[in-house]
Order: sequence, then structure tokens, then C-alpha cells
Amino acid sequence: MRWGFRPEPLDGELLSSYLVRSAGLHGVPADRFCVFHFPEFRIWTRDIDRSATTPFLDALSAKAELSLECVERMTLRDWEPLVSNRAHRGMASWINALGVYHRVRLRHGLQYCPMCIAGVPAYKKTWRLSFVTTCEIHGCVLFDACPCCDAPIIPHRQLAGALRCHNCHRSLIGTLLPIPEQSLPVTALQNECLHALGTGFADVGGARVRAGAYFRGLRILASVSLERGCGKSQGDAVSCGLPMECMRTANRVAALCALASLLAAWPKSFRHRAADWCWTQRMFCRRSVPAWLYREVRRLPRGRVRRTRARQSLRAKLTSLGRWKPEGWRGTRAVLLVCAAQECRR
Ligand SMILES: [Zn+2]
Ligand SMILES: [Zn+2]
Repeated sequence: MRWGFRPEPLDGELLSSYLVRSAGLHGVPADRFCVFHFPEFRIWTRDIDRSATTPFLDALSAKAELSLECVERMTLRDWEPLVSNRAHRGMASWINALGVYHRVRLRHGLQYCPMCIAGVPAYKKTWRLSFVTTCEIHGCVLFDACPCCDAPIIPHRQLAGALRCHNCHRSLIGTLLPIPEQSLPVTALQNECLHALGTGFADVGGARVRAGAYFRGLRILASVSLERGCGKSQGDAVSCGLPMECMRTANRVAALCALASLLAAWPKSFRHRAADWCWTQRMFCRRSVPAWLYREVRRLPRGRVRRTRARQSLRAKLTSLGRWKPEGWRGTRAVLLVCAAQECRR
């Protein structure tokens, strides 16, 4: 059965936003609407924008009388191979995690611009990207939560057609966050990333780099910066210990600011930062480093390996003892730990 009202998807609209908007047109809450029309698919208990299956997209294109390409374009599937070459614990690089738990979201992964949704009540695909923190149209910092109660944005839990928080039912629009000082370089980086996403190429220090390699290198730099302290000068915001995809928008602005300064005058900026923070090749060796970044990484000192190996072998011995528990294993473990402590003191 086709839908009674079949809205056109808006430019750059998220699939979940389209479903919520369609349910609103029918005057029904989004979860009941989807249970009625798609009883065989689980939709709100997962990140449907990332994990929509082809059978579901087929069913949706039939109900909404849209082409399959048009429906697919609303998902994040077309961007995921470009921005992410890994799926770590279910997360994709540069795509904000929602922390889906049953039908709610525990993380603040969906951002919004209050002025944009006041005009057109739809959520954009770009608002799920980790490098996007400001509105392209209004230039304001995006919200990642209800301005009143700080609850994550969950459009399918909101009252049909109302731009009100699902938790406190207050309006999500009408307030604007002040633009922080560091937003200019962050906005420039955001524009470069969006340009790479659109064209498939990026510019790094005057050289043309494929978008996949660009995003991979950027994510490695972000990880090393966060792990190895170059963001600590930005305060607690960066040292929150979370990966970029799980950070709140304010924290990401600080992390992206550090990243933007690293890329500002590539490769000089990287060389200075690496010298200041004593970066070594070993910090990058666990990751598959793209060529444009490897050209600089190979100039770094190799880094020390002896202590790491010793620590790893100690850890392996302790794990093995704990697992097999041979006779007198507690005594052996104590001896190993005392020896390791004496080694460290030397
Ligand atoms: Zn806006
Ligand atoms: Zn609220």
C-alpha cells in the first residue's frame, strides 16, 4: 500500500528525517507509522541512516514512489566508503556515533542548526559528520542537544510535526550559541572536507590528494594529536578521552582547531608540531598511513622499542599465568612484578 502523502526528499536530507517528516504529514508518531508500513524491518532500534538494508530501501521507494537511487542518496552509505576505511566497534570514521540503545540515543551524534530547522523542519546528512560543526548557511555553531535539558536530539521521539525536545518538550529553535574564536580555522577545515566529499579530491600543501586518502590521513592525525597531547593546550575539551566520533560538538571544535593548525602550512606546521611534541614513526606504525602523510612520517625519528617489548612480554606472561594457573602461579606472578618494578627503577 502506497502512502497517502508522499513528500519529496529535501536537498541533502537524512533518511531518518524524511521518515519522521512523512509520519508527521500523516499525523502519526514516527515509530507507529514505521511499524504499520514496514512491520518486517527494525528501524528505530538502529542507526538507520548508516545501516538501512537494500530490501528496506526497496520497500521505502515503493511506498514513497521514489527511485531507489533517490532513497539511497538519503543514507550515509554513499559517504561511508569515502570518509571511513574502518568500522571500529561499529563506528565509522568521521560519522558521529548515536549510541542507539533500544529506541533512544545516548550520544549527541545528530547536530542541528536552529535557524535552518525553523525554516525547513528537516535534518541534513552533513549534520552527522564529525568535521562539521558550523552551519554552512548561517555560520553559527551547530547544536547537538536540547538547549534546555541537554538531551540528545531524537527526531522520531518528538511529537509529530513539532520541533520540540522529546524529553522536556521545550522548543529546539530560537536560541543561538555564540561563535567561538577558534571557529574560523575550523570552518575552513570543514569547507575543505566538504569540498573533498563533493569532488573526491582535496588539497594538502598544494598537492592534490584523493578524498579517501585525505580523510584517512586526517583521522590518523586527529588520533595522534588527541593521544599525544597536542590538544591539551586547548584545555579539558580535547582531553576528554573519547574518539572524535563520540565527542560533543564543543569538544570537537577544539580538537578540529588543533587539527586545522596542523594542516595550516603543510608540511612545515606538521614538522614543527612533531618536533615540539617529540612525535616518532612508532606513533603512526599501527595505522595504514596514506602516502601524503607517510612522506612526512618517514622523516620522524624511529622511536624506542625496548621498553614497549619488555612491557608487552611481561603482560603476555601475566596473562598466560592468569589463564592457565599452574602450581605456585601467584608466587611466580609476584616475582615477575617485583623484577619489572626493579627494572623500571634503574
Ligand atoms: Zn543554518
Ligand atoms: Zn529538552
